[in-house]
Amino acid sequence: MSREQLAVQQARRVFLTGRSKPLEYRIKQLKNLKRFITERQKEIVDALRKDLYKSENATHLYEIVGLEGEINLAVSKLAEWAAPRPVTKNLLTISDEVYIQPEPLGVVLIIGAWNYPIAVTLQPLVGAIAAGNAAVVKPSEVCSHTAKVMELLPLYLDPEMYPVVTGGVPETQELLKQRFDHIFYTGNSTVGKLVMEAAAHHLTPVTLELGGKSPCYIDKTCDIRIACRRITWGKYVNCGQTCIAPDYILCEPSIQDIVIDEIQKCIKEFYTDDPKSFADYGRIINQRHFKRIMALIEDSTVAIGGENDESECYIAPTVLRDVTLESKVMQEEIFGPILPIITVNGLKEAIQLINEREKPLALYVFSSSNKVIKQMISETSSGALIANDCLVHFTISDLPFGGVGNSGTGCYHGKYSFDQLSHLRSCLIKKLNMELVNQMRYPPHTSEKLRWARILLLKQVNLARWRRMAQVAMLAALATFVVQRFLR
Ligand code: NAD
Repeated sequence: MSREQLAVQQARRVFLTGRSKPLEYRIKQLKNLKRFITERQKEIVDALRKDLYKSENATHLYEIVGLEGEINLAVSKLAEWAAPRPVTKNLLTISDEVYIQPEPLGVVLIIGAWNYPIAVTLQPLVGAIAAGNAAVVKPSEVCSHTAKVMELLPLYLDPEMYPVVTGGVPETQELLKQRFDHIFYTGNSTVGKLVMEAAAHHLTPVTLELGGKSPCYIDKTCDIRIACRRITWGKYVNCGQTCIAPDYILCEPSIQDIVIDEIQKCIKEFYTDDPKSFADYGRIINQRHFKRIMALIEDSTVAIGGENDESECYIAPTVLRDVTLESKVMQEEIFGPILPIITVNGLKEAIQLINEREKPLALYVFSSSNKVIKQMISETSSGALIANDCLVHFTISDLPFGGVGNSGTGCYHGKYSFDQLSHLRSCLIKKLNMELVNQMRYPPHTSEKLRWARILLLKQVNLARWRRMAQVAMLAALATFVVQRFLR
């Protein structure tokens, strides 16, 4: 039996004992996960420095703080999330107990990506633990140092319930042959299709957190200086290797030079004149990606940057001007520090261009006009829409994070992670009395019975409203009593 098979079998065996069901167990595991990131902070920081040349503070800001917040939220809200959820009833079921009971799915496979390896691997794990599942964690082999640190997880979490399987494509493929109750995959859409194919074999549901090209429209009426500061940050953080980074800019030809000028100022301000020797500017993950990204700019005009060093996987913050839709850089997600500018004649053309492509993971619009923003919202579709900023929607646990169409399926963060990895079970508990009411559903189906069925089934009963009305009536009765008894 392979190591992967063994890990899955063992996770299933312990899941079936019911060990992960009590909320106290889940909370303990969540707290242990927090202890892992606190106690192993140094190892995590060192690994990310080696893998992606991330600075210590950037690791805290972009990997650890968000994860800590998700753990804290899950610990404090777990009882509420896991509780039965009452629903609106109809007259036929008015005396029944009707509710939704979230329950664990079983064994979840979490396949992580390398760009924010701690966040994208352990945040889904927060959801899996909170929902009471067992989970097999497969960190990305591409960030080898971080994957090694993840191997320490079983020292903190229940090692049978949450095994970590490291390795590359063969190991992931071996895992994908096993039967899971949910697969949560983060990565590119080509592998996403393989994951979905493997999952289909067992009818396993999937969450696919994919990527793609996220457009960024700059309206000429906006404060271009501020817009460019926010875009420069969103694009070049983690050396452009962010799934929701603005992939390309759309703007009118009349502002292209101003945009280039402003971005240049920001690059200098954020990363100095020499980003290569600046400690807070990252590196491309490996030479394969370095070569891929450099090949993308071959047929375009470099307006800023372009300097590179293959031996260090360094590519300077780069802007390309007058890029055409046929250029190589527009044929795939860039996932690197290259920012092409495509000129369009206004909002209408920008919307048309966006709609002619796959639905993006994020769509950015910079404008001082609410009308422009609202038009972008109503006439396009994307995983998320952010006006006048970049990336920050990721920080709000109450917003479902995920794509649509080619950019992904399913979502997570906060309660969405819990729901995504739970089965929302419908429960209806009836008593064996009041059989008379059921008479109308038993044959023969007469017109009279149909008339009653329409009344009983089509009338929704909002119990909360009834309860409020009953409370008001009781208060009114009490007030009448007090007035009559004491104040007359
Ligand atoms: P990657 O190369 O690390 O692959 C991800 C996982 O897939 C790894 O664990 C790897 O073992 C596995 N894998 C790779 N090839 C496989 C194969 N042939 N069969 C089975 N498994 C295989 O990461 P990546 O795909 O380069 O990650 C970058 C992509 O992920 C980008 O497209 C980015 O936009 C996207 N991404 C999305 C999100 C999100 O939250 N939506 C977050 C981060 C990254």
